[in-house]
Amino acid sequence: MSGCIIVHGGAGYVPAQLTEEKTRGCQSAVQAGYSILCSNGSALDAVEAAVRNLEDNPSFNAGHGSVFNNKGQIEMDAMIMEGAQFGVSAVAGVKTVANPVSLARKVMECTDHVMLISEGAELFAREQGIPEVSSEDLVSPQTKSRWEKYTTKSDDHDTVGAVAMDCHGNIACATSTGGTTLKRVGRVGDVPLIGCGSYSDNSLGGVSCTGHGESITRVTLAHRVLSNSITMSGQNAVEQSLKFMWDKVKGRGGLIMITPNGVISKGFTTKRMAWASIDTNGILETGIDQPAITTD
Ligand code: ASP
Repeated sequence: MSGCIIVHGGAGYVPAQLTEEKTRGCQSAVQAGYSILCSNGSALDAVEAAVRNLEDNPSFNAGHGSVFNNKGQIEMDAMIMEGAQFGVSAVAGVKTVANPVSLARKVMECTDHVMLISEGAELFAREQGIPEVSSEDLVSPQTKSRWEKYTTKSDDHDTVGAVAMDCHGNIACATSTGGTTLKRVGRVGDVPLIGCGSYSDNSLGGVSCTGHGESITRVTLAHRVLSNSITMSGQNAVEQSLKFMWDKVKGRGGLIMITPNGVISKGFTTKRMAWASIDTNGILETGIDQPAITTD
């Protein structure tokens, strides 16, 4: 068995003309991660590779393509976690690194900390020899046109994420985002908060979330769905947890999950969420419109 993997490209507003581009982007990312699993690589390497692929694709709000805050700057958050020893790290408010997910991994492997923010994270990146990029390099034409179009906060949720299980049964997750469009300077969402936007535990599974970060944080969505999956099927746990977030705090979003039996589940309460998965039989699936969960 080569393991399995799923990625998402965010549960935000996706106009019809971008659905193909987003789905294709997810397919390329899931294949990048799966090729690592096939060569006996770890789940951690696979999720990092998949998320880097999405960060490098300007169609998504992470790395290249990150959205602006309300001062027209980029501030990115990312986290990565493995479910065997609970190795986990995150970065927040990073402006000058093209692949925040890899910086988060360095924090995990080269420091005693679980999170570094803004200048501290960038200083650490320099110490690690990670090339510095200017924010200009990360701004995509889409980001520029959104900035010109929106004068108030919009409902964009285009975070990227990946969850994988390798042939040893290790489960890892990674999530990366530019955050919400026109967010306040210094705003940190759910993504770097452990158990909110992502979580991995080999005995429960791995999760990566997307959607309204403040709502995801209030209900600790990633850990909640894993807890729910103890007593119900993975798909039911996804649906119940997202419904709970709507009922309790009126928050919308989506998530992807792999449970230790290798079952892949996903769901969203927004109109669209691009995703792609390759299961333990090597079968590739992609989607963006279904299955949606009703919140009425
Ligand atoms: N959850 C992300 C945040 O609030 C946004 C997203 O998923 O697109 O920062």
